[in-house]
Amino acid sequence: MLDFLNRHLMHPFMAWRERSKHLQHFRTLLERQYESPEVIRARQLSALRLQLRHAWDTVPYYRAAWTKAGVHPNDVRELSDLEAFPILTKADIRRHNRALVSSAFDISALRVKRTSGSTGVPLTIYCDEDAMQWKAACTLRSDEWSGWRLGQRVAKVWGNPEYLHFGLRGRLRNYFLDRAVYLDTLHLNDERSALFANTIRRRQPGLIFGHAHSLYLVACAMKKSRVMDVRPNGIISTAMILHDWQRSVIEQVFGCKVTNRYGCEEVSLIASECEEHNGLHINADSLYTEVPSDEKLLVTDLCNRGMPLIRYQVGDVVVPANRLCKCGRGLPMIERVEGREADYVLTPAGRLISGISLTENFALLIPGTAQVQIVQESITQLRIRLVADDEFGDTSRRKIAELVRDTFGESVTHDVELVDAIPQEPSGKYRFCISKVARERMQEMSV
Ligand SMILES: [Zn+2]
Repeated sequence: MLDFLNRHLMHPFMAWRERSKHLQHFRTLLERQYESPEVIRARQLSALRLQLRHAWDTVPYYRAAWTKAGVHPNDVRELSDLEAFPILTKADIRRHNRALVSSAFDISALRVKRTSGSTGVPLTIYCDEDAMQWKAACTLRSDEWSGWRLGQRVAKVWGNPEYLHFGLRGRLRNYFLDRAVYLDTLHLNDERSALFANTIRRRQPGLIFGHAHSLYLVACAMKKSRVMDVRPNGIISTAMILHDWQRSVIEQVFGCKVTNRYGCEEVSLIASECEEHNGLHINADSLYTEVPSDEKLLVTDLCNRGMPLIRYQVGDVVVPANRLCKCGRGLPMIERVEGREADYVLTPAGRLISGISLTENFALLIPGTAQVQIVQESITQLRIRLVADDEFGDTSRRKIAELVRDTFGESVTHDVELVDAIPQEPSGKYRFCISKVARERMQEMSV
């Protein structure tokens, strides 16, 4: 009953109050997903041409780069014509940040997203409000592929709860609207895991959401304490590689299929599994994607006019799929993502810290960081591998020492290794955070 009221009353009311069109968009997107691949591609082509024209007219970076490359938006008559356009790298975004913002927008009116989400490279991205609403609707559509329905409770195994940044308003919004409970993966220990298990047992959320390895750890803890009666409608694993061995433990504990999803802060949802759990559907309503011969995914954002990202190299390797899905949706597919790996690290006090959250924190807080990788050599020794830019200096080193002390305690020492690049592994995987300690502990937990 409460779920029903939340879906049909609270959400529409709040959307109306906040002048957000995302629920209208959501209905449009539900209809579009079963259209044929030809119809979807035709719509992508016209959206792409509009975005290219907009970028040429209002974004100084593209006008200069495309002029130099001898290409023009009018050259694009079919989707494959985009191949002639230059690639946009993370280094380009860092170097030319403001020159990538469209002059059609007042920069102060754009939403700012700071991230190091995909490969430990800190970036600032600006997104316009209309695009934010459209993207929210795309994400909501794929959320429901998991079996969850808008209005049902959610449990998040995540960095730190976003709503806490918004004071009383945030708390009220979370209590009445989002209805989410959190397990903070920056402070994970047995006690907190047990508390979380009790809460979700009592509340029975419709959806459990989190990074692959965090979900796996929670499932292991619940299995150990024999809590096997939490039955969500859906589980969404996101932002990292989901291994089969993790998936099977999670599915066994919760009695529910895991929906694997792939995205990044820069462009939001990129691809998601549907009910078939066989490959991922690309979010073609918001993005146009290319998989060149090196399999390094290129993404063109078709809706963010504030800071258009065109042929953006996300940093992940994907395996393409030229087939249709049994579910009948016409959205294009990829087989899998050889994306990101991040171990958990263990503190001397026995606390587990999510490597993805840890690296994100370090990358965003240390001035002059172009890219970072954290290696836990032993329980008391850390190696911080860092690609520095011009801003890097004594302040950065002091900040590293402070972060290490605050996160791990006085007994942990560290050294900083400045490197030219942090290479991907031959498989294309990028490892943010490597722990030579936690693995044994992790294996202990999974028995
Ligand atoms: Zn499908």
